[in-house]
Amino acid sequence: MSSRTGEDWGGKRKTQNLNTAEQKNYSISFNVLLDQLKNDFPEFDFRHGSKFAFRPPKTIVIGPSEPKMEFLLLHELGHALLGHKDFSIDIERIKMESDAWEKARDLATKYRIDFDDDMMQYELDTYRDWLHKKSRCPICGLTRFQDASGYHCPSCEAFRNNKK
Ligand SMILES: [Zn+2]
Ligand SMILES: [Zn+2]
Repeated sequence: MSSRTGEDWGGKRKTQNLNTAEQKNYSISFNVLLDQLKNDFPEFDFRHGSKFAFRPPKTIVIGPSEPKMEFLLLHELGHALLGHKDFSIDIERIKMESDAWEKARDLATKYRIDFDDDMMQYELDTYRDWLHKKSRCPICGLTRFQDASGYHCPSCEAFRNNKK
């Protein structure tokens, strides 16, 4: 990632595909929810795009049909409602992802949808894996720490610029 500011809040998971029959069923219930959300949150701009994401300050991108996409929509709405914009260190991102999922859980309750905890855990794991890989020292393999200037290895002081 070249810049932290302005990065969208799309997930790190690969999109799963639905067959045609599944897609039709999903589309119906999903569109009911989407219409409701558009009505309840007119301050946000709901648009279709290549993947689910929140683009600050007010655009919620709706990705292609996939299983449990209603939760992805609620999650991105969670980012929007929490006013997420950017983060300076990666661990903050994990916290924001977790907060956005908690918000999605509240929203699911409000809209009488059975929340899927397994899905939330799966999604959060993709960020934990991402952080784990990113913080690993390429020289000695130790877990590095990150501050405003970049990643630092406590052992060999390997340093990676934040921009990388
Ligand atoms: Zn997110
Ligand atoms: Zn090292």
